[in-house]
Amino acid sequence: MIEICHIGLGANLGDPLAQIDWAITALADLPASHLEAVAPRYRSRAMGPGRQPDYINTAVRLRTALQPLSLLRQLQRLEDLRGRTREVRWGPRTLDLDLLLYGDHCVSTPELTLPHPGLGVRNFVLAPLLDLDPHLCLPDGRRVASLLARVGCAGIVRLSDREPQ
Ligand code: ATP
Ligand code: CA
Ligand code: CA
Repeated sequence: MIEICHIGLGANLGDPLAQIDWAITALADLPASHLEAVAPRYRSRAMGPGRQPDYINTAVRLRTALQPLSLLRQLQRLEDLRGRTREVRWGPRTLDLDLLLYGDHCVSTPELTLPHPGLGVRNFVLAPLLDLDPHLCLPDGRRVASLLARVGCAGIVRLSDREPQ
């Protein structure tokens, strides 16, 4: 079974732009998968504890034959390859890969929640998703465009190709 899924990327340590570029290349190499589209990158204020560097965020659309848990484990493997550590919830990180949507699947287990629970309220997730597909909806029918309009765009800036930082 082939599904369309959306993955959110974030990094705020160790040259975040380079981390994101590395991750996009690695996602394009995932088994049984085809990277269909990459959203523009955003610079966003960190939402975690204490003072943290800004994040670079983006999202991708992937067509995959991997099952949701297999895909999640592939994403975690890529995070580990970048030396991701997990001391503090929402602490700074070299690379964060969240499985945002996997088709219309809804999952609620300790290891995997779909759609990703933060999706509906995080502008740095919604904005690149909307760039990928202006008509994108959640499994419950809510439109990404409507959710982003409600949350607003405070604290995020879309980076143009000519203005990388
Ligand atoms: P948040 O999930 O709020 O964005 P985070 O990305 O910092 O926070 P992590 O430490 O990366 O959280 O992940 C914590 C756990 O979340 C992982 O062990 C993973 O099993 C679980 N998880 C549940 N649903 C998902 C999902 N849709 N995508 C990625 N991880 C998920
Ligand atoms: Ca996350
Ligand atoms: Ca994560």
